[in-house]
Amino acid sequence: MITQENFKEKAGQVVEWIDHYFKRLRELPVKSTVKPREVYDRIPAQAPLQGEDVGAILDDMDSIILPGITHWQHPSFHAYFPANSSYESLLGEMATAAIGAQCMVWETSPAAAELEERMTEWMASAAGLPDGFKGVIQDSASSATLVAILTARERATQFTSNFDGVPQGLRVYCSSEAHSSIEKGVGVAGIGRNNLVKIATDAAQRMSPEALEKAICDDLAKGLKPVCVVAAMGTTGTLAIDPLTEIAAICAKYNVWLHVDAAFAGTAMLLPEYRHICRGIEQADSLVFNPHKWMFVNFDCSLYFVKDTSLLIRTFDILPEYLKTATHGTVNDYRDWGIPLGRRFRALKLWFVLRGFGLEGIRQRLREQITLNEYFAAQVAQSDELLLLKPAFLGFTLFRAKADDDAVSEKLLQAINASGKIYLSHTKVDGRFAIRFHATQTYVQKEDIDKAVDTLQYFSKQTGL
Ligand SMILES: *Cc1c(COP(=O)(O)O)cnc(C)c1O
Repeated sequence: MITQENFKEKAGQVVEWIDHYFKRLRELPVKSTVKPREVYDRIPAQAPLQGEDVGAILDDMDSIILPGITHWQHPSFHAYFPANSSYESLLGEMATAAIGAQCMVWETSPAAAELEERMTEWMASAAGLPDGFKGVIQDSASSATLVAILTARERATQFTSNFDGVPQGLRVYCSSEAHSSIEKGVGVAGIGRNNLVKIATDAAQRMSPEALEKAICDDLAKGLKPVCVVAAMGTTGTLAIDPLTEIAAICAKYNVWLHVDAAFAGTAMLLPEYRHICRGIEQADSLVFNPHKWMFVNFDCSLYFVKDTSLLIRTFDILPEYLKTATHGTVNDYRDWGIPLGRRFRALKLWFVLRGFGLEGIRQRLREQITLNEYFAAQVAQSDELLLLKPAFLGFTLFRAKADDDAVSEKLLQAINASGKIYLSHTKVDGRFAIRFHATQTYVQKEDIDKAVDTLQYFSKQTGL
């Protein structure tokens, strides 16, 4: 048992383990190679009857758990989008776990509610958001987008759907490149996945405003009810930025809620030289972006900004007797700003990161990563075997093998990922296989990018491109 007397010693063992983990990360294979059930079979079928020592648990961390981990904090993790941590965030998370507060209403921890309010203000200001947006921290962009869709649904149905059920014929729009969380959200919201209209994109994978307006008009002509448009500020496949100004004008014309999904790319708003990506944002009703992707705050920390908090709160508030407080209505009770009642104290790790790095420290790291990625893309552009598909953008590069046959790119990706040296993922662009790369892991350095280039070159030759 760990007690007050021996806590520091035991915690020291865990901190030692973590320190050692970070120091040897570069030597570990970035992608786990275990087979299904391999980890499961090594874990005893029953819980131990007697307590065990931390040392024994840490030994098993090394022998059972680590081989089954794909190391998201590895500087050679270039797959998907990052789920970054940092030393600052980790320490904030430790303090959060120590306090272990349930931050459902102001009274259950006033500091949690008020720090959350301040942190969202800091972030709105740092990102240059126009006045009028109020923020709340959600667990994920998926949840924030669901919250936006539900609020839009309630607004469009005069707040009756929550009580009477969802009427038929509501419609939501996003581009054909939008994230799967939107389709999931539309289904969960009871609108029905078949009522999500996927709008065609232009040659740069951006939503076509003309196609959007036509789809809305066609639906209106059929007696259907447009409720919400979800625009992407940085799609997952290619980081396409939908034309917000034009989309916002259409939403205003037809009185449709505009939600902006900026899960990864939203962090770039911290850089004044990239603010152009959010031109038109002042017209949006809501926006989400994830400090847990590209702002060195470990999962989960998703910032949801909304203009009209009264619509949000009216969608979610519910007040059973046991939750009545004297302060209700005069403070932010965040359980009314989203789906779950219980909430983690997520603002604390954001505070640790913002204070530990400072805004300029964060901006500097983002710019370094953008430069590292441009360096990577330049090597791809010079390669005899590889084809750069788009200019480097926000720490992200898209490429494929020059060979006409997509199977070559696929084979290259498989060989690289199986090697454990670096980890990449893929998408399809215009129906063709494309390899995604990002240089946005918190502690990535030039040596890691050189390793990625060398690995690509080595396996390009191996797979005989
Ligand atoms: C990653 C991503 C999401 C999902 O984010 P979660 O926080 O994991 O729910 C949604 N939209 C886009 C564009 C993304 O890149």
